[in-house]
Amino acid sequence: MRRLCIGLTGGIGSGKSTVAELFRELGASIIDTDAISHELTRPNGKAIPDILSAFGAGFIDASGALDRSKMRGTIIADASARQRLERILHPMILAACKERLQEPAPYHMLVAPLLLESPDFLKLADRVLLIDSTEENQVSRVMQRSPLSESEVRAIMVLQLPREERARRADDIIGNDGTLEELKPRVAALHRRYANLATTI
Ligand code: ADP
Repeated sequence: MRRLCIGLTGGIGSGKSTVAELFRELGASIIDTDAISHELTRPNGKAIPDILSAFGAGFIDASGALDRSKMRGTIIADASARQRLERILHPMILAACKERLQEPAPYHMLVAPLLLESPDFLKLADRVLLIDSTEENQVSRVMQRSPLSESEVRAIMVLQLPREERARRADDIIGNDGTLEELKPRVAALHRRYANLATTI
């Protein structure tokens, strides 16, 4: 059975996880590609053997998990390493997403930072919802959340589509430059729209 799938995207630190959590509270089924990727690369995760043979033991930490900060540094600097990692992870993430999309739910929300850059994932989405915020807010929110430096955050942002291009390609946009309280009614209004839409497909 086909179920409505909303692709949720936005730059790093734009507020995707925060907004997804609000949709989850209202009843949407959230499929988070970052969470799936973490699962695949945890100790003894399904992707670890392939990462080991493609990148070597230096990228696996003592617990048997992917050394995330080392890999981040490598793929920021090296496009071919980035592609090698994507060739391992993307098919596995895609398969997990397709499986989850079969589960019953009012509608699904596929949270993917690189949705607009990844045609295989974009194909799964009926509509694209963009979480939009200024680059200044992105940088300061990520730096509050994680130990990344401003230059590391900006290096990741350079790998993502420019803000205007994302906005041009989205069907719906939630602006997230205000307070968390301001987000709630925007999410509630879209949730009603999506729940209605789900009854028509
Ligand atoms: P993403 O998933 O897009 O990387 P997050 O949802 O994790 O972004 O948000 C990044 C950080 O900013 C988190 O610590 C989150 O709590 C915080 N944040 C998100 N939206 C707001 C907001 N409107 N006001 C203040 N902090 C916010």
